Amino acid sequence: MIRKLEEIANHLSNRNIAVRVSAQAERMIKKRHPWVFENSITSQSLSGETGDLAVIFDSKRKFLAAGLYDPHSIIRIRILQFQEPKNIDRDWYCERIKLSLEKRNQLQGQNTNGYRLVHGENDGFPGLVVDRYDKVLVVKVYTASWIPNLSRVVDCLKELVPFSAIIFRVSRKIQKFVEDKYELSDGMLLDGDFQQETVIFKENGISFEVDPIHGHKTGFYLDQRENRALVEQLSAGENVLNVFAYNGGFSLYAAKGGAKSVTSVDINRHALDSAERNFELNIQNENVKVCQHHTIEADAFSYLVKVKEEAQLYDMVILDPPMFAHNEHQISLAIKKYRQLTQLGAQVLSPEGILVQASCSSRVSSSEFYESVLSELSLTGRKIEELCRTGHALDHPVNFPEGEYLKCIFVRVS
Ligand code: SAH
Repeated sequence: MIRKLEEIANHLSNRNIAVRVSAQAERMIKKRHPWVFENSITSQSLSGETGDLAVIFDSKRKFLAAGLYDPHSIIRIRILQFQEPKNIDRDWYCERIKLSLEKRNQLQGQNTNGYRLVHGENDGFPGLVVDRYDKVLVVKVYTASWIPNLSRVVDCLKELVPFSAIIFRVSRKIQKFVEDKYELSDGMLLDGDFQQETVIFKENGISFEVDPIHGHKTGFYLDQRENRALVEQLSAGENVLNVFAYNGGFSLYAAKGGAKSVTSVDINRHALDSAERNFELNIQNENVKVCQHHTIEADAFSYLVKVKEEAQLYDMVILDPPMFAHNEHQISLAIKKYRQLTQLGAQVLSPEGILVQASCSSRVSSSEFYESVLSELSLTGRKIEELCRTGHALDHPVNFPEGEYLKCIFVRVS
């Protein structure tokens, strides 16, 4: 398969596109913003193909930046190299990957072998993510401009990270294009061997199975690791309701933390089946063993209404929904949904209960999100005590404004 990537790379014209951009775009590039939009390009020397290198010059013909060209995306160039011209060759890629790996060194001693190795723009690889689940590496691309350049990335990963398999994932938006143009399909094996359906990895000592071929994102929501660890600390003796549970990430931590019961709710039965298997995987842990775990396949909103009607209460309610705002037109609807969830969650919280609510919509700012949760809670008339607000973990660094997407708030509601 690597040969196939090399063949694709060989088709790339070695001509760089010289590009000029608007004054505003120039300012953004100088601030190291990694995206150049289609409408800020004022001139280019060639029409350019997917994956070509675009070299951007300022008004005095001085080098500004170089990045990958994508004629099919409104983000026309994703910048790899700022300020100083460099050869974007194999060594360049390996150096970049090494820097990413160094940033994650700290995770080595934490009984965690599943985490993000490369976090897109924020690690200097705009539109590309690499996740590690034990020895399985998953490379996911969000722009086709990576495809002709992927063999170098994979080559460096092979050199720098011990692996048993490297799996290719591609964002849904460009799946068809990538399949038609390059004959690469979502979930295919790039290198190594992967016969099984799932891989088991550890996060803070808890074992999880993930399906790196069909699972959401690359299989697991690795970005919630630290919020889950907080849930573990707050769960002893509690009855916990985990809404939008997926494969039980938060549920397992609550159980390990000593929760009396955990109810995992999700609309997707397959995800809940996986949550059940994840409980089985950790059954040797005494707390997990005695915790009563129930899974409920339901729509979160209707289920919360039902729980309220039945006057059932929980000591902790976790609300970690999917992205609600996919574009700027959906922001106000997203905030409405967050508010609705806060209200529904608070209604099923016992006195002194804890609400944990997260948002992964980058278009909803942290302040808008926190304000909507807190103001909705204050409408309940109950006393509220904010315990903490959290953001990004070290393997999900933030380097530009749009990179900040994850926010989570813990509030005690008396
Ligand atoms: N909390 C999870 C990640 C949640 S991802 C974790 O820590 O891993 C969002 C989940 O919400 C997905 O599993 C999806 O199946 C589920 N979902 C989406 N819409 C839903 C709805 N209306 N009701 C219940 N679950 C929903």
